[in-house]
Amino acid sequence: MMSEMLTRSTADRYRLLVAETTALVAHRLAGATQPFSGASRSELQRLVDDSALDGPGVGTSAAIAEIDDVFLEHAVWFHHPAYAAHLNCPVALPAVAAEAVLAAVNTSVDTYDQSTVGTLMERKVVSWTAERIGFAHGDGVFTSGGTQSNMHALFLAREAAVARAGAPRAETLPRLVVLATASSHFSVGKSALLLGLSDDAVVIVADDGEGRMDPDALDVALQRAAASGLLPMAVVATGGTTDRGVIDPVASLAAVCDERGVWLHVDAAYGCGLLVSRRRRHLLAGIERARSVTVDFHKSFFQPVSSSALIVREPRDLAAGAWHADYLNPLENAEPNQVDKSLQTTRRFDALKLWVTLRALGPDRIGEMFDTVVDLAADVADAVDADPDLELVGRSQLSTVLFRVRPDGTDDADQDALVAGVRRVLFESGRALVAKTVIDGRPCLKLTLLNPETTLDDVRAVLSMVKDAATALAGIAPDLDSELASELVAGLVGAEVSA
Ligand SMILES: *Cc1c(COP(=O)(O)O)cnc(C)c1O
Repeated sequence: MMSEMLTRSTADRYRLLVAETTALVAHRLAGATQPFSGASRSELQRLVDDSALDGPGVGTSAAIAEIDDVFLEHAVWFHHPAYAAHLNCPVALPAVAAEAVLAAVNTSVDTYDQSTVGTLMERKVVSWTAERIGFAHGDGVFTSGGTQSNMHALFLAREAAVARAGAPRAETLPRLVVLATASSHFSVGKSALLLGLSDDAVVIVADDGEGRMDPDALDVALQRAAASGLLPMAVVATGGTTDRGVIDPVASLAAVCDERGVWLHVDAAYGCGLLVSRRRRHLLAGIERARSVTVDFHKSFFQPVSSSALIVREPRDLAAGAWHADYLNPLENAEPNQVDKSLQTTRRFDALKLWVTLRALGPDRIGEMFDTVVDLAADVADAVDADPDLELVGRSQLSTVLFRVRPDGTDDADQDALVAGVRRVLFESGRALVAKTVIDGRPCLKLTLLNPETTLDDVRAVLSMVKDAATALAGIAPDLDSELASELVAGLVGAEVSA
């Protein structure tokens, strides 16, 4: 029987198989005329049910050919210009090529003896990021995503607070609080839960009315917490909120945190692309005064999932998570083991993708690509604002656009009800993907633009599908958020956006 393991003797077969596989993907990429096939969930469930996982193997080529029909046919294509839903970027070619390398070599960057030069390369990419932030001697580690980076940061902040409190852990944990705005990422609240803090440990700080944390309100909240016997463990500033795309005034917040001696964490999962922007780097001014920073390269550096990092200003802060195992990283071992800094053990060499991208394109080019999508979002916001059938909801500093659609004869309640229906109609047509959220208690539609090759006309075409769907739905029943409504309306949605 032919070997199906990737070894010395199958190197040629590996080359053929990967060529065959990439040919399938290339064919799909070239042929994707819309971001999603529009297949119904029942149809997709049937496809999945039809594949037996218990039968005899069909062979590698056949199994790959099968996923062409099952998966590639129905994948959601983030590179398509009518994909404007969530914080997913199209990916840079050098990063995808590097992904193939790390998948095949299968390095695990936990201990030095498993990754050797890979460890040194990850460390260099981490140092590069720390320097971009403005940390003189920063350190950090790659993680699976912003959620993990935020949790890791808050874990380090918790350990620092417990050490400072000097009381038993069990007495300290219920007194710890984290301060953030209502627009901060949900992973902040989730981390508080996972870290064993009290149910009301996240204190919401008032914003400026548009989602940016108010430094005076932070100061008052910190004083109030202290007066109530609570221990502020961290302030989480958001360097680009997920919905509104606004940036907390980091420098002013840092001044408050310094004065009160509180750990400042900056969640720049979305806004980290500004670190390489020559035109907008100032929007993150003050980030160098944070104690820890989350960056998501898989959001604004055009990297494939996963690629994120937690970066700290003081390398010693990472030691709170170190743990020693005799078989892995015993204390007497002087090798540079990334596992000592990570919450994970076995861990992907994601840093290679960013390394290759930086070498291939240079940071300025990545920054220009991010600037391009921020410019596009501003143009789209202008177009929405100028359109009597649309209502712009706030202005983003990054690349989201929030809006409502208001067909003739509809009132606020109808417009609110239309949001879910419009999103669903577009999703089920597969022609354009938009997201929805709630701002100040009212639903609205949301575009997240992260494709530097998408044009204003491409987005105008999406907006026109939104309007067509809304008009059609409003004529039937604005709150008809059902498959029936989608079917009724799908045929009415405007022309395809060309890929
Ligand atoms: C997306 C996002 C996160 C979470 O990142 P994941 O990579 O999805 O885990 C955290 N914070 C902000 C502000 C985000 O936009």
